[in-house]
Amino acid sequence: MTSFLIVVCSRCGKFLLAKAGQKTRTCPYCGSRIILDRCKRVATFEDVGAASATLKKLKREAAERRRS
Ligand SMILES: [Zn+2]
Repeated sequence: MTSFLIVVCSRCGKFLLAKAGQKTRTCPYCGSRIILDRCKRVATFEDVGAASATLKKLKREAAERRRS
C-alpha cells in the first residue's frame, strides 16, 4: 500500500504532498528539488483523500497566520 507524506519545502516553507518511497519531489511553488529524507515531515497518511484534506487545512491555517 502506498503511503502519502505531507512535507515542508526546505526552501520556501510551503506544504506539499509526496508519495512515500519517492526520493525527491519538485516543489510546485518555488521549483526547488526537495530530498524527502532530509526535509521536515508533517504527517503520514494511508490514503490520498485524508492527506489532501489535511494539506488543504494546513494551507488554510498558514494563510490565516500570514494575515493576522
Ligand atoms: Zn518550495
